[in-house]
Amino acid sequence: MPNAILAELVAALGSGAVRVVDLTETLRPDYPTITLPPEFGQASPFVKKEISRYDARGPAWYWNNFTASEHTGTHFDAPIHWITGRDLPENAVDTIRPTRFIAPACVVDCTKEAAADKGYILTPEKLEAFERDHGRVPEGAWLFMRTDWRKIADPKNYANMKEDGGHSPGPDAAAVKWMIARDVVGFGVETVGTDAGQAFRFEPQYPCHHFMHGAGKYGLQCMTNLDQLPPTGAVVIAAPLKIEQGSGSPVRAIALV
Ligand code: MN
Repeated sequence: MPNAILAELVAALGSGAVRVVDLTETLRPDYPTITLPPEFGQASPFVKKEISRYDARGPAWYWNNFTASEHTGTHFDAPIHWITGRDLPENAVDTIRPTRFIAPACVVDCTKEAAADKGYILTPEKLEAFERDHGRVPEGAWLFMRTDWRKIADPKNYANMKEDGGHSPGPDAAAVKWMIARDVVGFGVETVGTDAGQAFRFEPQYPCHHFMHGAGKYGLQCMTNLDQLPPTGAVVIAAPLKIEQGSGSPVRAIALV
């Protein structure tokens, strides 16, 4: 009886037996946006412009215009974002079927590794160890790499940029292929990209974008509060804006715990 299941969920949300954890950063001008080398086009940060605030421009109402890239703030990456996913069916935010926006999450705790090495690279060995402790990653689950990045990164240098590029954590190509073999729905992180800061040196370049999007899978970036999720068992709702042929979009990502 589906109604009984939904009624139970509503009751559990009301009683607090099921908690809602907000995985979303506040969209604000000073939140770091990914920066590409200067020869490439750049993503806009979040900019808000007041239309009126109970004044001559609109005596009884307050509202704003805003601009942002599809990849600003806590956001969703669709397969069409990468050249490897450009010809796949249902590859843009407006054509992905909405059932894909609700999925269980596996949270791999990489906090010790990232604290010791901000450029930590996630490998299949770490994922195998996760499965030994918590069981097999189920088909259709998000795999989140928890680093507590927000706590360890310098807010003025969120990507940890150095002369030789960014030094932030991310997976190697083998770890990405491992996740695809598990048929995850996608890979999520707290940093500004699903790939490591140094992934432009990897073979292939940006292996997470390359393989994940080529396999029709998604990305979530700039998440927060992953420390409030259990290793398994949370259900994540992360629905991008329905932008026509959009490559991604800011999301309000929440988890039911
Ligand atoms: Mn993105």
